[in-house]
Amino acid sequence: MEQRLRQLAAEAVEALRESSTTDELNAVRVKYLGKKGEVTQVLRGMGALSAEERPRVGQIANEVREEIEAALEARNSQVKEAQKARQLAAENLDVTLPGARFNLGKMHPLTQVMEEMENIFLGLGFNIAEGPEVELDYYNFEALNLPKDHPARDMQDTFFINPEVLLRTHTSSVQVRTMEKTVPQVPVKIICPGRVYRRDDDATHSPMFHQVEGLVIDKRITFADLKGILATFAQQMFGPETKTRLRPSYFPFTEPSAEVDISCVMCKGSGCRVCKGSGWLEILGSGMVHPRVLEMSGYNPEEVTGFAFGMGVERIAMLKFGIDDLRLLFDNDLRFLAQF
Ligand SMILES: [Zn+2]
Repeated sequence: MEQRLRQLAAEAVEALRESSTTDELNAVRVKYLGKKGEVTQVLRGMGALSAEERPRVGQIANEVREEIEAALEARNSQVKEAQKARQLAAENLDVTLPGARFNLGKMHPLTQVMEEMENIFLGLGFNIAEGPEVELDYYNFEALNLPKDHPARDMQDTFFINPEVLLRTHTSSVQVRTMEKTVPQVPVKIICPGRVYRRDDDATHSPMFHQVEGLVIDKRITFADLKGILATFAQQMFGPETKTRLRPSYFPFTEPSAEVDISCVMCKGSGCRVCKGSGWLEILGSGMVHPRVLEMSGYNPEEVTGFAFGMGVERIAMLKFGIDDLRLLFDNDLRFLAQF
């Protein structure tokens, strides 16, 4: 029995020497020292020994067990060292390689221009007003002096949800909602930025686009106030040398009405492809609020007057950044967007 134990010890040590992974070492441990292991089996047979032999064989068995355990532990730390060395070799870092780049996001050019416009008007004492994009026909058309049979509705063909509900064609609906809420108090001094919808789709029109509209109502507001505010806006947006001119126009909700041009941002007025040789660029529509619009919102046109204006954010962004196709702003091509 003693011989058998010594032999098992030698076998186990040999098996350990040949093991090179934690799993293999574990298998050896189970084979010799486990509950059903070889050494354990031998010890089960100790009952057959005489009383004198038993302590001696018991001691040998303990020595053998300790010997195997010591060898196991030694081999185990060798295997772990080797594993760590292999892992380090595999993860070998070349510190001269360029690092991983992070792609930083930035604001969309339309958002940038919209915020710039908002900041200019906030600086001129305007508040920002917002309203629903799905709007009642009443707020989008009727309250703005555009009754159901009005031919000027054709210029703003839009998407109807039902005959009384539509996607707003301008943010003027927010002006009406604000007047209704404020009446009879003055002043009203707001801009209405937001998305609007029309049935248009080409290089300079999109079925969805953004507007910033403005409305001022107070006692003794005149056309000169309108001109002053818009000239100041143009200079802050496009540079202090920017000139402004007003041309007579027609809108159902203003009277008199004017289109506003600025001196061409590309050629500074000498004439180029962008301004088609005229030296001027149209940027917005404006006018004095029509007395009937004031009346419909509850204001007395004999006591207060006002002016309103509206412009497309895409148009302003295209002029500011020199973009020649509106659709680029909606394609979301990062190669394009990263330039701004
Ligand atoms: Zn020009």
